[in-house]
Amino acid sequence: MTKFVFVTGGVVSSLGKGIASASLAAILESRGLKVTLIKLDPYINVDPGTMSPFQHGEVFVTDDGAETDLDLGHYERFIETRMKKTNNFTTGKIYQSVLEKERRGDYLGKTVQVIPHVTNEIQEFIQRGAGIGTPDAVDVAIVEIGGTVGDIESLPFLEAVRQMSLRMGPNNAAFVHLTYLPWIAAAGELKTKPTQHTVQKLREIGIQADALLCRADRRIPEEERAKISLFTNVPEWGVISMWDVDTIYKVPRMLHEQGLDGLICDKLRLNTPPTSLKRWDDLVYETEHPQGEVTIAMVGKYVDLSDSYKSVNEALRHAGMKNHVRVKIEHLDSETIESADAAQKLAKYDAILVPGGFGVRGVEGKIATAQYAREHKVPYLGICLGMQVATIEYARHVAGLAHANSTEFDPATPHPVIALITEWKDADGTIKKRDENSDLGGTMRLGAQSSDVAPTTLAHSIYGDVVTERHRHRYEANVNYLDQLRKAGLVISALTQREHLTEIVELPQSVHPWFIGVQFHPEFKSTPWNGHPLFNAFIKAAVEHQKQTAKA
Ligand code: GLN
Repeated sequence: MTKFVFVTGGVVSSLGKGIASASLAAILESRGLKVTLIKLDPYINVDPGTMSPFQHGEVFVTDDGAETDLDLGHYERFIETRMKKTNNFTTGKIYQSVLEKERRGDYLGKTVQVIPHVTNEIQEFIQRGAGIGTPDAVDVAIVEIGGTVGDIESLPFLEAVRQMSLRMGPNNAAFVHLTYLPWIAAAGELKTKPTQHTVQKLREIGIQADALLCRADRRIPEEERAKISLFTNVPEWGVISMWDVDTIYKVPRMLHEQGLDGLICDKLRLNTPPTSLKRWDDLVYETEHPQGEVTIAMVGKYVDLSDSYKSVNEALRHAGMKNHVRVKIEHLDSETIESADAAQKLAKYDAILVPGGFGVRGVEGKIATAQYAREHKVPYLGICLGMQVATIEYARHVAGLAHANSTEFDPATPHPVIALITEWKDADGTIKKRDENSDLGGTMRLGAQSSDVAPTTLAHSIYGDVVTERHRHRYEANVNYLDQLRKAGLVISALTQREHLTEIVELPQSVHPWFIGVQFHPEFKSTPWNGHPLFNAFIKAAVEHQKQTAKA
């Protein structure tokens, strides 16, 4: 039978609830349990796909093509279970489903209300996320509820999980609450009052926490732990200190050493002994003992919020660990880069990455960046939009197609080398169609798709014969220009089997040591243990470039 752990948050947001949930999942997984994580987001958007990265950070894409919260990225990087559409849902999605049922007449004449209809719907979605009734059913599903206790928006979610735990009986659900203890310098004290209040708020709605994860900039002294326990009705061993650490890989061991997994297993009557957390210790060791450092320029638009490129940042760090170097990432605003001064801005980097993005702002700076990387033989990795700008750059400056562009940025361009595709096959095999007037939400090419990789290319040395990666984009390299680009020397190293959509472009290794653009998002599949073949190769190329320039 599947058991549940519900993770709620209090006091303030951004305390690292996603990392805490993923870490708990990881230590439960290390006990041999099959675990999954489900994220519940209280906002009304049906999914985060239409939200700006400034609002919400990165949109994480799953194999099955769901546009999800970036916490699902942490989940996939921390545990073995792969995330699916059913692992993340929002208030908007719940209401969409309730309203569809209402229109169909499923409620048989009843008045449709938050309790029980919305709360029942939430419970059904949670059960679906845990794979209940399918061969994928897990031993433990950790359900992270977004937002903080006391928000109007999260109330139906909290009510739903309270009902669910009651329905399941005493040893089938546990509650973990993440809270915050501010350090008041003037008093020289960590304050427990906000924690007392947030736990009270939780108890008001009928939820008694089994464990409190107390975030603070330091360890919680014993005296404060005893006080928190007394005021919150949580046994002292359930008051767990979660202090600031320099790497997230330290969190699983931190929680395990204070007995969090033991406590949860006791509560849920799961009789599985702990095993080694060596794989986490190895990651910490690798992070703390690099044998060199490379600096990567990441040229994008959303530079002020590093969460916008969360998975790319992580993938670069993983690749650093595989190459035993620390990867320093400098985010450059593409709006500040022009052809004339690209060299001055970019010369000091060991490699250049242009990540995904939407909209015309800053695009010319990205094109100038790709041109600089190509002409100066600096390792270049273009992801999604990064591939598109590299193609535009090549068309303009090598293939002689002046003013070539993407129709996303210039609908009247004489040479639409990147254009909207109107029909394609999606991750689930269905044929999808769209035009300029289609909805923006959920109408991109999404999810994992496979293509054949051309032999003897750089891509082939990285991926082998087939590449399967996740997509999230609306525009594509225009098939009608491929011959011209090829004749001008651009290598098209992978095409989708059915539509012949361009998946990878590269420069021949005879003219450039490492220049590659990919239409997909490889960053979503990188893990701390294996890294990702493309990022591993990119960082290796950065190390090589550093050596070459040092010699020169
Ligand atoms: N804006 C481009 C498109 O929609 C690229 C998208 C991306 O980089 N994810 O095709």
